[in-house]
Amino acid sequence: SAATTKEAIALEDAYGAHNYHPLPVVISRGEGVHVWDPEGKRYYDFLSAYSAVNQGHCHPHIVKALTQQASQLCLSSRAFYNDKLGAYERFVTEYFGFEMMLPMNTGVEAVETAIKLARKWGHVNKGLKDNGFILGVGGNFHGRTMGAISMSTDPDCREGFGPFMPNITATNPDTGATIRYNHAEDLEAVLEAYGDRVAGFIVEPIQGEAGIKMPEPGYLKRCYELCKRHNVLFICDEVQTGVARTGTLLAIEHEQIKPDIVILGKALSGGVYPVSAVLSSREIMLTIKPGEHGSTYGGNPLACAVAVAALEVVRDEKLTERAHELGMRFREGLRKISSPLIKDVRGRGLLNAIEVNPIEGKTAWDLCLLLRDRGLLAKPTHDTIIRLAPPLTITAEQLDECVEIIVGAIDDYSK
Ligand code: PMP
Repeated sequence: SAATTKEAIALEDAYGAHNYHPLPVVISRGEGVHVWDPEGKRYYDFLSAYSAVNQGHCHPHIVKALTQQASQLCLSSRAFYNDKLGAYERFVTEYFGFEMMLPMNTGVEAVETAIKLARKWGHVNKGLKDNGFILGVGGNFHGRTMGAISMSTDPDCREGFGPFMPNITATNPDTGATIRYNHAEDLEAVLEAYGDRVAGFIVEPIQGEAGIKMPEPGYLKRCYELCKRHNVLFICDEVQTGVARTGTLLAIEHEQIKPDIVILGKALSGGVYPVSAVLSSREIMLTIKPGEHGSTYGGNPLACAVAVAALEVVRDEKLTERAHELGMRFREGLRKISSPLIKDVRGRGLLNAIEVNPIEGKTAWDLCLLLRDRGLLAKPTHDTIIRLAPPLTITAEQLDECVEIIVGAIDDYSK
């Protein structure tokens, strides 16, 4: 492995595809809320691998489950049963309050699975042959596969990658206008015209990659009611918001609605191993028959052991309550910062963002470099927006220290 920051960056740049624009910092070790670079500099991790590391880096309980299972059995494939999968599925369905689950590996694979499940359900229950619509909303991020980007409204996700999949869209088929987040009337218009052909509506309860875009009160409930009126499955993408991040196990709990399908990923394994899942009722899940969908690694015993341990940490360390309480403390601290640069502080639990007012010749990228210099890693979602999402195991004292780091960086930024 690379010995220095310089060497690691040079190697990635030389031999790896340039499909990212990472902040120039190399991470070579992690423990709890901290990560270290090869030179030994310590940072607070305020990205948590896009909310995968909710339980903190290398949590000993999860690492122990991983190493124990790794020496017993890693992969059996679904050609056979394995002794871990069923118990894991029972744990997850009971914990999240659903009847059945379908195990996959990455977030976007679970999104694809949900799309296929909804389409199959529409095929069986609404007589949709090969024309079922899956509707999304503007600003969504569901991942990078063709199905997911067919719904995207972000030019960076789409340009040069067409043609896209028919009838998987966040635009009104008649007008070509985007179905806007926080505008239930846009969804209503499409459902009025096409409701009998729509299988599913997919939404993030808080839009993460859109810059921590919050749902307005009643918006998601209204969408849910519209879906029910038109016999459309309401699908919640909780890949980023789920597993305690927003102060409840699922972010949709804030809205008091029960989705038909929930998509989980990231923190389901505490960032220790790729694990994702789709949850639904038995009736919906069993519309997919044996042989119609699968994945070599989905439901492998290593993933099951890791995910059970990761959820045990959430439960035993009361991470939902922690995220809720610390989130309020954090936003209160950030809102006290008296700087004309801060335009908005928003979020729920420990999924937060600060939005800064534009400064001539500078962007949030520069602010993130200043935060990095002061020992805090965060990444801008946009030129003026920085997401702040530490592991949920952070202490109140550490969080207060981080507010001070942010105050200092904003000070420097304004100079
Ligand atoms: N859905 C949401 C809401 C996400 O935030 C992400 C990842 N940022 C994904 C899906 C895709 O997950 P993955 O990168 O594991 O495929």
